[in-house]
Amino acid sequence: MSDSVIRAAHDVLIVGGGGAGLRAAIAIAETNPGLDVAVVSKVYPMRSHTVSAEGGAAGVIADDDSLDEHCYDTVSGSDWLGDQNAIEAFVREAPRELLQLEHWGCPWSRQPDGRIAVRAFGGMKKKRTWFAADKTGFHMLHALFQTSLRYAEVTRYDEEFVTRLLVDDGRVHGAVAIGLMSGRIQAITAKAVILCTGGCGKVFPFTTNANINTGDGMALAYRAGAPLEDMEFVQYHPTGLPFTGILITEAARAEGGWLLNKDGYRYLQDYDLGTPTPTPELRSMELGPRDRLSQAFVHEVEKGRAADSPYGPVVHLDLRHLGEALIDAKLPFVRELCLKYERIDPVHELVPVRPVVHYMMGGVSTDIDGATPLGGLYAAGETACVSINGANRLGSNSLPECLVFGARAGRAAAEYASAAGSTPSVVEAQATDEVRRLERDLLGKRPGGESIAAVREDMQATMEEAAGIFRTGPAMAKGADTLAELQERIGDVDLADTSRSFNTELLAALELANMLDISECILQAGMQREESRGAHQRTDFPARDDERFLTHLLVHRNPDGRSRIEHMPVTITRWVPGERVYGR
Ligand SMILES: Cc1cc2nc3c(=O)[nH]c(=O)nc-3n(C[C@H](O)[C@H](O)[C@H](O)COP(=O)(O)OP(=O)(O)OC[C@H]3O[C@@H](n4cnc5c(N)ncnc54)[C@H](O)[C@@H]3O)c2cc1C
Repeated sequence: MSDSVIRAAHDVLIVGGGGAGLRAAIAIAETNPGLDVAVVSKVYPMRSHTVSAEGGAAGVIADDDSLDEHCYDTVSGSDWLGDQNAIEAFVREAPRELLQLEHWGCPWSRQPDGRIAVRAFGGMKKKRTWFAADKTGFHMLHALFQTSLRYAEVTRYDEEFVTRLLVDDGRVHGAVAIGLMSGRIQAITAKAVILCTGGCGKVFPFTTNANINTGDGMALAYRAGAPLEDMEFVQYHPTGLPFTGILITEAARAEGGWLLNKDGYRYLQDYDLGTPTPTPELRSMELGPRDRLSQAFVHEVEKGRAADSPYGPVVHLDLRHLGEALIDAKLPFVRELCLKYERIDPVHELVPVRPVVHYMMGGVSTDIDGATPLGGLYAAGETACVSINGANRLGSNSLPECLVFGARAGRAAAEYASAAGSTPSVVEAQATDEVRRLERDLLGKRPGGESIAAVREDMQATMEEAAGIFRTGPAMAKGADTLAELQERIGDVDLADTSRSFNTELLAALELANMLDISECILQAGMQREESRGAHQRTDFPARDDERFLTHLLVHRNPDGRSRIEHMPVTITRWVPGERVYGR
């Protein structure tokens, strides 16, 4: 590397220190202790979004459950768009991963006889969701983080932001990152890179996602030449607190909570949720799949049966009949969030809720070992699309997905890195280019330009309008036109802050550019998919159309920067597409 570019070299570079990233790091250290691993994270790892997961992680363990049933629930929950080879591997390995996590220190809640406690979760016919009270993500991430500290071969770059992948001839050789405190820009070369950068909820205005969930990894991969898959499928969670978007976990309904409209009526009984009650105990009405519950909310609003709030229409979550003892034992965090953010005590009062953008089914297209079509580039966790979630993810499948596919990607990347040659010198020019671009943006004063916040708000409003719970072709086309205008406008954003240390304005500009690319992919794929399936509901094409669309859509980036869509067959092993019902 030239003198102007600071360089660090490792065998494997992991971008992201959440559940998937840390699991991958441990897998590499265990597979080949001779490899040198770097974990770069734009926040301190324990602040990754995984920490906020509440409800739990699915894995077959109960006596009356079976791997086949977990597979079937996931396949039908995905509206038959999930790849069944990936789902089978996932379901088989999830219990092993969850047990392993306990040995690393995760305190799973237990039954009185000492066995692992499991709770019901939406769209799952059996109780198979492991939990650590309602702070599951915190305990899982903590166990992974402290385990990763055991390995001296793992070097952490905390609070460093990756801005670009280094690619030569279809192979990835590292990344460029900027240190948030120092403003120092460096090239981190590696034989393999694993993207574990989480979701992209912030492309929408109202989301449960943390501010950091801006889909950076998806944008990095897309620009480097790797396709994105299933991008049209964005999950709404039916119960977010109005205004903040803070999630009230599905566990609240799993423990017996009801959803009421403004007349105090359990309105879900009026809707086809695809859930003939499997057992009264599973209370499948409130535990219907997330997409159908969110759609039912929109219909209640249309019928004038939602309640008003300062932040728009809401329905109510009723936990009062559960009693204080159960709420404190099983849902303490729910009570705390309601008290702190709404000044409401769910033991005595109704909780206002509305659907909120929660999870991205799509992401960087990978095989079942996390490999993308680019040599040396892997992805795992929410940023990846394996695809086990297809058109709709079942709650509590995502945390174990991070474990299973984080570990698989780690092992595959370790193997690749062990055999790979040295870094070609051409990546130096790319690193130098990127340093120049960042220096220019960092130091260049361009008074009178666009405001980052204004463009971001316009993007979020456009996405809600064009790609919300219900969509139409014309609305998405109009949204895509607006996004093209916003792309022009960000070319002219004004960075008033030219400081090097914690230049959050520069970060906001980089994240916004990423989110605009991702928004465009969501709309392009959404326009192509002329059917309704899972989370993608088109009022102009209300039926599922297996003949034309039992297929993944891949969004590629052309050299001119425009997108191109290709079809990729869904892998079907044992479960032929059928109607999406949850009871048999
Ligand atoms: C409120 C909430 C509750 C949830 N509850 C559940 C649940 O109960 N059960 C379940 O199964 N799922 C749940 N989910 C979903 C699940 O938690 C996530 O899908 C999963 O934790 C994502 O983990 P990850 O490792 O992929 O990403 P994250 O945990 O989001 O980590 C992403 C990492 O990437 C880093 N990063 C990102 N961009 C860059 C960049 N440019 N440069 C450097 N580093 C970068 C970040 O610093 C971070 O370390 C929930 C999600 C939310 C939002």
